[in-house]
Amino acid sequence: MSKLIFPAAPAPTLPIVGSDDRIPVQRVFCVGRNYEEHAREMGQQVERDEPFYFTKANETVVPTDSVVPYAQGTENFHYEFELVVVMGAPAHNVSVADALSKVFGYACGLDMTRRDLQLKKRAKQLPWDIGKDIESSAPISAVYPAAKFGAPAKQKIEMRQNGVTRQSSDLSFMIWSVAEIISHLSTLYHLRPGDVILSGTPAGVGPCKPGDVLEGTIEGAGSLKVTIGQPV
Ligand code: MN
Repeated sequence: MSKLIFPAAPAPTLPIVGSDDRIPVQRVFCVGRNYEEHAREMGQQVERDEPFYFTKANETVVPTDSVVPYAQGTENFHYEFELVVVMGAPAHNVSVADALSKVFGYACGLDMTRRDLQLKKRAKQLPWDIGKDIESSAPISAVYPAAKFGAPAKQKIEMRQNGVTRQSSDLSFMIWSVAEIISHLSTLYHLRPGDVILSGTPAGVGPCKPGDVLEGTIEGAGSLKVTIGQPV
């Protein structure tokens, strides 16, 4: 019988609020430009034809209270604080009306970004991957089951950098709702339990530096805190 010639990397796992069980993270989907004010601050038109996505490897997921090293190869390492949707059931061609029934729960997340590299690639119409799919770039907090969180509505979403509020909005300002995102994404992928979706960031993104403390909260979904470390 053949064996693996080196150990396979285990999937990162997320704790569940109110349980000792954990969720193995499968795929990480991210929604681009899902709040109008953020689309504008990125110099983009607000488009309503369909949502768009990029992905991160699941190994980019790290827990709350992590030290996130300042990413190598960038001089403009940005925070984007976002609602994370954690799938709990398979979803394929699911309707908007049924989409939220496939969700396990919700958490707080950061989509850490090499903004200079993202924009440089975007300008040349090349893939953004090196701007987004960065080691340790997806900190995600403990997951609140949907029964505790409720449905995404007008919950406040806020992020502070060293105690100063940088991002402040509410979930109703999403261009595409969580249900619409799941429904649309499920026409492109066979979504599975453990897939997670970072649902886009409100306005107020900006640069960080080693030593910064980033702390975000979403009403009903707890909080996430990371410290930016020295490059490694
Ligand atoms: Mn983002």
